Amino acid sequence: MEIIHVSAECYPVAKAGGLGDVVGALPRYQNALGHIAKVVMPMYRTKYLYQHSWEVVHKGGANLGNRWFDYTVIKEETNKQGFDLYLVDINGLLDRERIYGYDDDSERFMAFQIAVVDWISRWQHRPDIVHVHDHHTAMIPFMMQHCLAYRQLAGIPTVLTIHNAQYQGAMDWSKSLYIPAWDSWKWGLLEWNNMINPLACGIKCAHRVTTVSWSYLDELKFMSNGLEPLFEYEKGKCSGILNGIDTVVWDPATDHYIDNHFKVTDVQKGKAANKALLCETFGLDPEKPLFIFIGRLVGEKAADLLPGVIGDSFFHIGRKMNYLVLGSGEPQVETQLELLKSFSAGDYNVYIGYNESLSHLMYAGADFLLMPSRVEPCGLNQMYAMRYGTVPVVRQTGGLRDTVVDYGEEGGYGVTHVHASVGDITHAVYRGVQLFEDKKKFRDVRKRMMKLDFSWDASAKHYIDLYKTLR
Ligand code: ADP
Repeated sequence: MEIIHVSAECYPVAKAGGLGDVVGALPRYQNALGHIAKVVMPMYRTKYLYQHSWEVVHKGGANLGNRWFDYTVIKEETNKQGFDLYLVDINGLLDRERIYGYDDDSERFMAFQIAVVDWISRWQHRPDIVHVHDHHTAMIPFMMQHCLAYRQLAGIPTVLTIHNAQYQGAMDWSKSLYIPAWDSWKWGLLEWNNMINPLACGIKCAHRVTTVSWSYLDELKFMSNGLEPLFEYEKGKCSGILNGIDTVVWDPATDHYIDNHFKVTDVQKGKAANKALLCETFGLDPEKPLFIFIGRLVGEKAADLLPGVIGDSFFHIGRKMNYLVLGSGEPQVETQLELLKSFSAGDYNVYIGYNESLSHLMYAGADFLLMPSRVEPCGLNQMYAMRYGTVPVVRQTGGLRDTVVDYGEEGGYGVTHVHASVGDITHAVYRGVQLFEDKKKFRDVRKRMMKLDFSWDASAKHYIDLYKTLR
């Protein structure tokens, strides 16, 4: 099968979050299954662009309203990522340093989508699947089906994957002029709440819609920034497919960010060595269970509750545990976490900033990872943690619900809680401390987790199975 992924991000070319990770890995795994998966994305001014060599594969032009633009499609020559990678260059619109955050983002991504559809319409053959990701590319199914110039593409099955439904790209109706001549009887497919809503349009027009976990899909039916009834109405074509993790990069036996490597067979020894290093660096006590948090210090991740949890647990449970936080985000949360150091030295520390190598050492040396997220479409941290023998302490939401089973249940291996509240999280910490004190149980849980398979192999196959239902 020939699959063309269209996305605003793709690691390592340009990444702002999980979307980039998925589009940078999934096609490689699909190719390993014997398919031909390609990626097409905008040509931003990134380091990757200048460090690689490119060949021009197509030149074309189209209208964005009454403005004509030329576009060029270039292809990376070495196939280094394990899939064909195409960039669309549109002078003055896409060739910027950042991916998002410009006033004319609607125009930029509209032009990108028009260029992609125009380019595909000129191929000598048809791809088997066009797979679009998030709102920046979600109008492509509409364009392929209802723009007069591209009607010949209407028969190609399309899939939309939603990585984050909070962002929908809504724009004023005056921008309908940007869409290449379209069947105006179909205006209802573009409309949501008196706006053109690209994500809603993609949900209505794509042949299948996926989210990055099953539970996130359920949650979207009652909490999706205004699209709740649409998710309910279209549920028949929606499904959840969990993201995977790159098991080559994230392997405690070979991880080049850590010195003390380990496998499931020598996990006790390996983790103890990493923990000792971590505790020495941050002035913590290696005898106590170490709880860590890694991530953006924002409301979505419930990072604002961390100071309360740390303070309350010391007060109610006693200083039986240590905490180490790595992250950056909202200034008031950063300040509170910094201030807490003066009250809790020896049992708590924080590193404000982004530090890839420290994050690997933390997954390798910690006993527990806190993820009390309010919203978590899939979440990668908990999967990395489990592979490194660190027990996840998570709120039952989105992808966390789908990947972590409480140790109180048959075959369970994590600690779960229901609410994003200081009380509930503190209680989960208490249960974590109890688990840590039961040495045999803790060892068993650790080994069980490390044997779980969160690689892309299974998820890539699920996508292929989904495509097959469309052919
Ligand atoms: P997000 O919603 O932020 O995409 P994910 O769980 O999907 O959350 O992925 C987060 C990724 O970013 C993980 O690889 C995590 O280790 C990494 N990360 C987040 N914050 C930091 C930080 N401050 N330093 C290093 N790595 C970080």
